[in-house]
Amino acid sequence: STATLTIQQQDSAHCLHPFTNFKELNAKGARVIERGEGVFVYDSEGNKLLDAMAGLWCVNLGYGRQELVDAAAKQMQQLPYYNLFFQTTHSPAVELSTLLAELTPEGLNHAFFTGSGSECNDTVVRMVRHYWASKGQPNKLEIISRNNAYHGSTMAGASLGGMGFMHAQGGLPLPNISHIDQPYWFEEGQGQGQDPQQFGLERAQQLEQKILELGEDKVAAFIAEPIQGAGGVIIPPESYWPEIQRICDKYDILLVVDEVICGFGRTGEWFACQTYNIKPDLICLAKGITSGYLPMGAVMVCDKVAQGLTEADTEFAHGFTYSGHPAACAVAIENIRIMQQENIISHVRDDIAPYLAKRWQELASHPLVGEARSKGMVAAIELVADKSTLQRFSKEQGAGGVCRDICINNGLIMRACGDTMIISPPLVITKQQVDQLITLAKQSLDDTLQALS
Ligand code: PLP
Repeated sequence: STATLTIQQQDSAHCLHPFTNFKELNAKGARVIERGEGVFVYDSEGNKLLDAMAGLWCVNLGYGRQELVDAAAKQMQQLPYYNLFFQTTHSPAVELSTLLAELTPEGLNHAFFTGSGSECNDTVVRMVRHYWASKGQPNKLEIISRNNAYHGSTMAGASLGGMGFMHAQGGLPLPNISHIDQPYWFEEGQGQGQDPQQFGLERAQQLEQKILELGEDKVAAFIAEPIQGAGGVIIPPESYWPEIQRICDKYDILLVVDEVICGFGRTGEWFACQTYNIKPDLICLAKGITSGYLPMGAVMVCDKVAQGLTEADTEFAHGFTYSGHPAACAVAIENIRIMQQENIISHVRDDIAPYLAKRWQELASHPLVGEARSKGMVAAIELVADKSTLQRFSKEQGAGGVCRDICINNGLIMRACGDTMIISPPLVITKQQVDQLITLAKQSLDDTLQALS
């Protein structure tokens, strides 16, 4: 329609998009999303799309929740903005930090608020270094992360991240940040005919090797996502996290868990640390903290590290204008209240995640699919050119991109990470909507097979 065309033209002329190939975008024009309701979004051409990505892994309670809108409006009328700098505070931030201290695993009793997941990870880098300096160990600067991880797009976030193409375009990573491999069994383990548990153990032991290589007295922290999200929903073997925990404990290294995706119910517990029995020193939260309705992040900090900060002679010279934004805090508080009232955690753990797992496995028999996996409410399928040998498609064939475009034309939003198709639907999704998702996914796989042959 002309209305859509006008928006697309103005978009091309003035709006620079994140993570977008502008030639491809301008060739077809951006899809204009106009509104959302539950697990669906609607575009300006009247298409109804099942949003199996919950926006960017964040709209956990679904679109159109009036309670969240009301919470923001009420707070904005009373006090739209104030900050936590220079010895002031306000009750939305105090209430939210208290709530988060109660909900997160034992010992994580302190919240440092940010505006995003990236800012959480930048905060972590500065905080752990300040902590060790305050403990008289200023040489503990090294932070170990993982290849193919995503920790955001700020300079420190992108450095902690292990995406080669991001490092290449910005002279990254920053100094004193290094990477080990992830436990990506489908891509890197099974080819060697290795047992997944043994593989998980070996991948975790790379952390010990890296610590010894850098020097035990130099390593400040290790950071990882419990399940790697944007890297392709890489679900670790059960052997992985206990070994990581053992190594961090042995060398007295702070363990930072980036729960920007996994937090707030996605794995069937409030936090994935609980799912994997991890005892982190710091946790990064964002996205689902407000179901994406307002930007917000929080670093949850354990007593030991918080004491290091509060008892130091120097201030922790770090913070953002929007650290603890009152309206974002009010939405987060309401988001948590709804999750409790509607028993979202048990809905995920006992009901909808097992159902999704069962139905998602049906995709494993499709000729294009080399593996189907899920944990809680994240899931992935690996597209392969040859099911018997698990041979991948060539880069030129761009199977993942083809599949993603076919999905959206069929009314389903899935994301492609290379040739890994991933989903992270709103946690409020019903069984009937999961059925709809699977039907659309099967249809789209059939159409992709045809398009690629
Ligand atoms: N950490 C993880 C695990 C993420 O998935 C993301 C975003 O996708 C980030 C950090 C960055 O968060 P933000 O985009 O809010 O800066």
